[in-house]
Amino acid sequence: MDKDILLEKLRANMSRDSWNNWLSTAKILELDEEKVIIGLGNLFIKETVEKRFGSIIKDTINNITGKRLEIVFKEISIDKEHKQTVSGPIIKNRPLKLSDFNPEFTFDSFITGNSNRIAYYSALEVCKNPGKYNPLFIYGDVGLGKTHLLHAVGNYLMENSPDLKVKYITAEDFMNQMMDGIRASEMEKFRERFRKNIDFLLIDDVQFLIGKNTVQSELFHTFNTLFNSRKQIVICSDRTPQELATFHPRLISRFEMGLITDIQIPDKTTKYLIAKKMAQMISLQLTDDVAHYLAEHIDQNLRKLRGAIMNLLIQSQISGLPVNIESAKKIVDSMIRMNSNKLKFQSPEILESIKVDTLINAVANEFNIERKEIFSSSRKKDIALARQVLAYLFKTILKMKTKDISEKLDKNHSTIIHSIKKIEHSLLMGNDVVRDKINNVKEKLEGDRGLVAI
Ligand code: ADP
Ligand code: MG
Repeated sequence: MDKDILLEKLRANMSRDSWNNWLSTAKILELDEEKVIIGLGNLFIKETVEKRFGSIIKDTINNITGKRLEIVFKEISIDKEHKQTVSGPIIKNRPLKLSDFNPEFTFDSFITGNSNRIAYYSALEVCKNPGKYNPLFIYGDVGLGKTHLLHAVGNYLMENSPDLKVKYITAEDFMNQMMDGIRASEMEKFRERFRKNIDFLLIDDVQFLIGKNTVQSELFHTFNTLFNSRKQIVICSDRTPQELATFHPRLISRFEMGLITDIQIPDKTTKYLIAKKMAQMISLQLTDDVAHYLAEHIDQNLRKLRGAIMNLLIQSQISGLPVNIESAKKIVDSMIRMNSNKLKFQSPEILESIKVDTLINAVANEFNIERKEIFSSSRKKDIALARQVLAYLFKTILKMKTKDISEKLDKNHSTIIHSIKKIEHSLLMGNDVVRDKINNVKEKLEGDRGLVAI
């Protein structure tokens, strides 16, 4: 069968949206008795197509050809093919600067691995095809490179599309500027700033708006205006749209309309390469053993990795000695000590209240109820049981006196004694529900032990 005919038949078998969004760059590069090689626009598209449509495409091609062929996807960089060589000086427009971008946070300085490759290529893709995946929503834990990617988008566009007006803003700043607008009765100006003169809006740490309904609503309207004028929006968050549970549903569904990608914790090799890159960026010689050591011993938050590397630079500048594994060990040890001291430095009273608080939260979580319900006078069965379990755990884990428990839970002395007895009795009688709940809470606290030494 001819390559073009096969491609045409494949197209006829897929939905028009899927094809236009993901397969418009597809080419059949090779077709023989054993395999088909399909070329796709770039690595990002290739990976997405492979993941999302791989098996459908395989089935479809096998149906069309009546053979069991191996399907291989390959990236063909259109850029390379179409790159024009321009002779003579290139005069670039001076970009209209709406935001400052950290010059160190570029696509070039971003190391990719399995944990972040899709996020990286999605960000690059929205730069190359603004409006196609709108919005792009990137989520991941703190210190995994979200802000780096937003700045990379900014830097890239300043360089390659100087006519575009690109604005980076944290959700917190968005709120503050909005408040200023309200206070100065200049909401019109505020709205104009965000809705009119922007081609690209990059919003960082959107989870900051949890519980802030007025600002969310303003963001929703900003979002709609930009979206309707086909402007690109990129959003970063430390949780998924669904986990932004208190966000207004219409805002969440807007976030879900585009492309959602995550950044995961990097594996050791990626972390090692990031360490090397970070050192290179500040012209610090970092031998392989030191980079491996740092990758191995510093946790997932890459800000800490960067902190350690900056520290090593300063130390080596002061001592005039190159960085070695000993100095790296010292830094890592002091970072670990600092972390565990965070709690030791607290006064006993504060420490105690952190423990009490943690336990209340763990119990409320386990029973799937609100904290405040525990302190209410509700007699609903699960709430009453949660209260009794909490009293029991106050006594057995935190060794609190009955008097203190009664004060904390605002119940009289005999109620508390009765509650604790009831739980003890349930455990004695082999009540599985109560035992499981208590074990789950304990397990949760074990998990937090590094954080709160109960
Ligand atoms: P987040 O916004 O997700 O909390 P940041 O973007 O602030 O994280 O990243 C923390 C630090 O780690 C920054 O210095 C950033 O440059 C660096 N970093 C994160 N991911 C990478 C990566 N893949 N390659 C190089 N540096 C990275
Ligand atoms: Mg950030």
